[in-house]
Amino acid sequence: MTKHVPLEKHPENPGRIKVLVDRLDKQGFRVEYVSRNVDVQEAQKIASRIHARGYIQYLEKLSRYNYSIVDEDTYLTIDSMELAYTTFQTSYELALSLNEPVFYVSRPPGHHAGRGGKAMRAPSQGFCLLNNAGATVLGFKDRGLTRIAIIDFDVHHGNGTMEIFYDEKILQVDLHQHPDTLYPYTGYPFEIGEGEGYGFKANLVFNPFTGDDVYLRVLSMVQELLEGFNPEALVVSAGFDGFLNDGLSDLRLTEASYEALGRLIRGLEAPTLIILEGGYSVGLTRGVESFLNGLTGREVNYAASKTLRATEVEEIVRINEKTILKIRKKAIG
Ligand SMILES: [Zn+2]
Repeated sequence: MTKHVPLEKHPENPGRIKVLVDRLDKQGFRVEYVSRNVDVQEAQKIASRIHARGYIQYLEKLSRYNYSIVDEDTYLTIDSMELAYTTFQTSYELALSLNEPVFYVSRPPGHHAGRGGKAMRAPSQGFCLLNNAGATVLGFKDRGLTRIAIIDFDVHHGNGTMEIFYDEKILQVDLHQHPDTLYPYTGYPFEIGEGEGYGFKANLVFNPFTGDDVYLRVLSMVQELLEGFNPEALVVSAGFDGFLNDGLSDLRLTEASYEALGRLIRGLEAPTLIILEGGYSVGLTRGVESFLNGLTGREVNYAASKTLRATEVEEIVRINEKTILKIRKKAIG
């Protein structure tokens, strides 16, 4: 985790992992450190199942230099690919073997990386190199599991993951700040998949200043949807950047929402890999801690924050309810 270091100040840096792990240590969560050497050829083989070969070659080429800029948000250093492959391959291998929820504290994040890098016309690939959630799906598939669900609760739309599986019968629930108001400006409610994947994609959107009150109402509908789908395996893109004042978004989520997310995932009782996506300051401490309290069934009562624009509350709930009802018909019947 000490690799892939930005030259200048950048929100995605090794310090994130230290802040997060220190907090978990203090709270008495068991943190297991994994050290491994990546098999680059093997990782490339797996990566080429969801990324274009040309894209992987492009990243390889950039990584010969000490420091490169992939785009305005995304940097690449001489050891970045080693870390990206390690995270990618470890996600795949964990999915092959795990039977209970595992929270894989890893970087760089991956959910903005599509088949060829930038996905769904996003302006950049938002700190992401290889799609780790995608690798996890492949791992679950390779052990013969077919009813797979992905929950992405990073505050930004998981456009890379959405693009990669858009025409597959994988249930994807992506909760994010409304694309009119936040990067990557993708993931509208009307986008519900295509081909085999039609009706399996829920883009749930939240206006700026949404608080726990609204988020929790939508989460209870998400829970019903996922329970009805009854996944054999679950992939979670866990971003904690929707936490109030984490820095990169305008949502006002606090412990109450993250605890509820953890509890929801716990209740599904499926083999689950939770991968770290975003989260840059307070989300990595208070957000992660409350999420894990929910995931591990610790009883804590958190007060719910309120949505600032009260007049928008019912509208936000209604838009997302409509999406979930549409998906319900197709994905559950
Ligand atoms: Zn994010």
